[in-house]
Amino acid sequence: MERIWIKDYPLRDLEDWVESIGERRFRARQLFRHLYLRGIDSWDACSDLSKSFRTQLEYATRLDALTITAREAAEDGTVKYLFTLSDGRRIESVLIPDPPRQTLCVSSQVGCALGCRFCLTGSLGFQRHLSTAEIVDQVCQVQRDRGGKGAVTNLVFMGMGEPLANLDAVLKALEILLDPNGAAFSHRRITVSTVGLVPALERLGRVSPVNLAISLHAPEDSLRSELMPVNRSYPLAQLLAACRAYPIPPRKRITFEYILLRGVNDDPARARQLVRLLEGIRAKVNLIPFNPHPDLPFTAPEEAAVLEFQAILKNANLTATIRKSRGADIRAACGQLAARYPGGAAGGAGC
Ligand code: SAH
Ligand code: SF4
Repeated sequence: MERIWIKDYPLRDLEDWVESIGERRFRARQLFRHLYLRGIDSWDACSDLSKSFRTQLEYATRLDALTITAREAAEDGTVKYLFTLSDGRRIESVLIPDPPRQTLCVSSQVGCALGCRFCLTGSLGFQRHLSTAEIVDQVCQVQRDRGGKGAVTNLVFMGMGEPLANLDAVLKALEILLDPNGAAFSHRRITVSTVGLVPALERLGRVSPVNLAISLHAPEDSLRSELMPVNRSYPLAQLLAACRAYPIPPRKRITFEYILLRGVNDDPARARQLVRLLEGIRAKVNLIPFNPHPDLPFTAPEEAAVLEFQAILKNANLTATIRKSRGADIRAACGQLAARYPGGAAGGAGC
């Protein structure tokens, strides 16, 4: 029998599966609790299951979809995890402490096909999609590594890859992570970040209440297309129309992410253009000073430019925050995830 990756299965599918191997459907809930509340790494740890069922699970399932290859801690407490997948490829997740929150930044693909010019992941190109199990297991492994459920309080899909390009796997992962029988994250504590693949965005809005962040980065098409080639397929008018129509749950807003690149998009005229663009949308703006890297052709903005940009947005009654760069000393900051370790050795900083 082909072994299944058990973390690929939302509860209803797991119920069908346990039935198919001759067990009662309610067993699936028990398995869910072991997997996502207790974070087991072996079926031996499940003493409430019969020995014969545990043996069956041993032969029929694969429990862990990835292994921790290295962890590196930054001075500010950020921890970058390097995971190895079953085919030997590597991805990264980043745990960002911001008490009382502990936010895990998860990856959805190995590499990314969209080639945004300011992004190191984009410069890798696309290798493959992650499976549901590989997405969910980033959360399980970090929880386990940090001492159990509750170690991660918030999730952002802002790691490697474009989640909406891998929407089937991401939606199933969300279903598992939101399930009250398991990991039980509130939809208020999960954010999916996207460049705005419009048909997938419409689908996400129809089926999932999680928070939405749009990577905008420029208020006009010519510049956005230059920075983000995907804008040629889904230009701003189409993207903003989809945002206007997005079913935003009560008391929520769409976050618009805007990387500030010195001398490229950080001038006051662009701030005013951004204000006009977002008119009529329940929006907030997160300004992200560019994180430089020798392989990327941009520089970080001057602090004064960042503050002036923010002030223009605030004067127009837009909520505008400035994202603190976290974990920069271990290349764990936004856009710096490339799962690239010299010589393949990651030299974990031992946290
Ligand atoms: N593909 C999705 C999810 C990845 S999120 C998206 O792009 O939204 C990665 C976030 O980091 C995005 O907001 C992206 O625009 C930002 N980012 C990429 N490169 C960066 C860099 N060098 N400095 C700062 N932010 C960067
Ligand atoms: Fe891909 Fe997002 Fe990086 Fe663009 S910013 S290349 S969409 S990961």
